Amino acid sequence: MIPALMPTYNRADLAFERGEGAWLWTSDGRRFLDFGAGIATSSLGHGHPHLVRAIAEQAARVMHVSNLYRVPQAEELAARHVAASFADSVFFCNSGAEANEGMVKAVRKYHAENGHPERFRMICFEGAFHGRTLAMLSATGNAKYLAGFGPPVDGFDHVPFGNMNAVRDAIGPGTAGIMIEPVQGEGGVRPADLRFLRELRAVCDEFGLLLALDEVQTGMGRSGRLWAHQWAGIEPDVMSSAKGIGGGFPLGAILAREKVAKHLKPGTHGTTYGGNPLACAAGNAVMDVVMAPGFLDGVDRVARALWRGLLELAARHPSVVEGVQGAGLLLGLRLRPEVVNGDMQAAAAAEGLLTVAAGMNVLRLAPPLVIGQAEVEAALDLLDRTCRRVTPSAARAAAK
Ligand SMILES: *Cc1c(COP(=O)(O)O)cnc(C)c1O
Repeated sequence: MIPALMPTYNRADLAFERGEGAWLWTSDGRRFLDFGAGIATSSLGHGHPHLVRAIAEQAARVMHVSNLYRVPQAEELAARHVAASFADSVFFCNSGAEANEGMVKAVRKYHAENGHPERFRMICFEGAFHGRTLAMLSATGNAKYLAGFGPPVDGFDHVPFGNMNAVRDAIGPGTAGIMIEPVQGEGGVRPADLRFLRELRAVCDEFGLLLALDEVQTGMGRSGRLWAHQWAGIEPDVMSSAKGIGGGFPLGAILAREKVAKHLKPGTHGTTYGGNPLACAAGNAVMDVVMAPGFLDGVDRVARALWRGLLELAARHPSVVEGVQGAGLLLGLRLRPEVVNGDMQAAAAAEGLLTVAAGMNVLRLAPPLVIGQAEVEAALDLLDRTCRRVTPSAARAAAK
């Protein structure tokens, strides 16, 4: 019989009862080091007192009123994002896919309002992940995710990740913009070359296209800068965010320059509970922590320590790990073809370390941004045990 909870996931048989910082406890008392952070989302870890208090206090006062009224918490959070980024204006929603949908709508509207309704196509990249709504499935372009869901939504053209010639070839009279993750998350923790990002900015300027960045996974400090594109020294025209910005409370956002945002006039786009007082109280609490002086430098420092440790791990276990890739605290172990990332993930969990598999046989590490050296060392130790567990040693083979 089908489970009451629709079986769209192959869930691990673990149920967590309590969390503190980067640690989670199951109801039967087992402790796990959480280097998945609910897929790069629990940016402040579990039970962060400032976030917990902000949510509890706001929930007791007023959670939801709809966007028919002013929401001071949203006004404050938007102003803070504007002050800290390229953006002039922010729209709040509830998830990454929804933020991306709105971002593509904004790009299309910009061209329509500028007299070019025929320019609605986005250039996207192979290996991308933009979400599970009908249009974002098309933007993602992964045949496995699209199968069975009818004709793909029109307007998304795919080219190989990092290939500037292919980008130029794909630009036509119907092209509206380029949509890219600065680091492909689901696709295998694959960072775009910083030079490639700069060239995309330049080609957008050359052809009057909008650069639309999907920073749903890479943003809000995960890369060691507030936004990953800052490493390339470029600014997009519009950007989506979600995952980490609510610290585990559902919150998404579209950040846009005025030339894009000004066309989303009243009635053009909306959401019932996007940006409600409760979600924005969470968003403001995350902002308080991430924007505190020295916090992002700390993320960068701890990320570099983790990176160095992973390189040593890879050198110690060449039969398991082929390489290390990613940026900041979004890192991937590229595994040898003989080692399936799902098996490695299960082996890590058996050792007490939570990770997330990603495309191209990568094991993804995306710990809370609040980890310190102690958690880095604990994770490296557990990964070392995991590598030994998945290596079929001669002794064990002989014993069989
Ligand atoms: C997770 C993710 C999404 C989808 O976000 P949801 O909140 O699951 O809708 C979109 N883009 C990127 C880059 C993501 O990592």
